[in-house]
Amino acid sequence: MNAARPQHAPMTQFDVVDDCLQVGGMALTRLAERVGSTPFYAYDRAKLTERVALLRQYLPPEIHLHYAMKANPMPAVVQHMASLVNGIDIASGGEQRVALDTTMDSGLISFAGPGKSDADLSCAIAAGVVLNMESEAEMERIAVAGKRLAIRPKVAVRVNPDFELKSSGMKMGGGPKQFGVDAERVPAMLGRVGELDLDFYGFHIYSGSQNLKAASIQEAHEKTFALAIRLAAHAPRALRTLNIGGGFGIPYFPGEGRLDLEAVGANLKLLLPGVLLALPGVQVQIELGRYLVAEAGIYVSRVIERKVSRGQVYLVTDGGLHHHLAASGNFGQVIRKNYPVVIGNRVTGGEREIASAVGPLCTPLDLLADQMEMAKADVGDLVVVFQSGAYGLTASPVAFLSHPGAREVLV
Ligand SMILES: *Cc1c(COP(=O)(O)O)cnc(C)c1O
Repeated sequence: MNAARPQHAPMTQFDVVDDCLQVGGMALTRLAERVGSTPFYAYDRAKLTERVALLRQYLPPEIHLHYAMKANPMPAVVQHMASLVNGIDIASGGEQRVALDTTMDSGLISFAGPGKSDADLSCAIAAGVVLNMESEAEMERIAVAGKRLAIRPKVAVRVNPDFELKSSGMKMGGGPKQFGVDAERVPAMLGRVGELDLDFYGFHIYSGSQNLKAASIQEAHEKTFALAIRLAAHAPRALRTLNIGGGFGIPYFPGEGRLDLEAVGANLKLLLPGVLLALPGVQVQIELGRYLVAEAGIYVSRVIERKVSRGQVYLVTDGGLHHHLAASGNFGQVIRKNYPVVIGNRVTGGEREIASAVGPLCTPLDLLADQMEMAKADVGDLVVVFQSGAYGLTASPVAFLSHPGAREVLV
């Protein structure tokens, strides 16, 4: 055991019985038998439910919670989330089909993202989905499509804010961006919205993702409300919706703490009365992806071979970056760090060692764990990557090297 090696905090999310991880109230070994093959993703339904309850506990009751389904578009997961949240945010025609198959009212589904095709736009208009307009050109195309369908499109303006969400894993607003309409151009665009036959709902202001600092999120909320109130003066009608984005992060790596949700909620409680005074009747929405689903999911692969090369142990598994690009460190990370990984059927293990878990791809990038301390594993053991419920399978190059795909189960 190497005491200097940083330990992962998040791995305690799941219960362990007789040194075996429990998922959805079942031993992982039993679940693996039931799934029938490795690798697979498993999502814990109860953990999804608990996470929404946690948010409801800390956020003001007026806040509407939306699920940004690109984080995990598995239809069963989206169905379950649809029963818990107040709306679904989609970013493609494919996601739109899954969202429209749920019980969610189509007027509570909103569609953001650059480059929407005419087919996507027509489907959204026909279904009554709210389109978050990413540009003036898109607005004109929406108006044409609405006229052709003889349906008044529901629209909101996605604003590219004139500020950034500080200390975000991924910045999606501020400066020049392919997302949204630059805040300074929004007043003119709102004039045009009034001329066209469009049913205006409000604004969508999304500034970033994967943020663990409450103070940064609080500052962004203050600036977002101020910007929305400023822009609302130019709107053709009173705002009905204001989507203030999300960006709530989860800890992936050693040393990362949890977001102080209580502080974020308390600040919103302070800000909301002023917002509702300036924008009477507005529905304030928060959209979250990974914060809702990431910690409820694991990725499981099986050790095919135990190999020692010049003193270093390699656990060669049947899973890898083709299913879980993010865990390999190749989905936007600047410096590769290990996701929390354990041997799922011997979590603590009698004997421990430093080992690397690799996949079957012919590239050194195919790394699930790089020299991590874990239970000594052998052929047939199950390597588990935690924090895998978001940006897992569908954010991975599944066709690369033509290996079999991974199954997904909601348990
Ligand atoms: C990706 C995205 C989200 C979800 O981000 P998370 O980090 O998963 O919460 C929400 N809204 C928009 C507009 C996005 O593009």
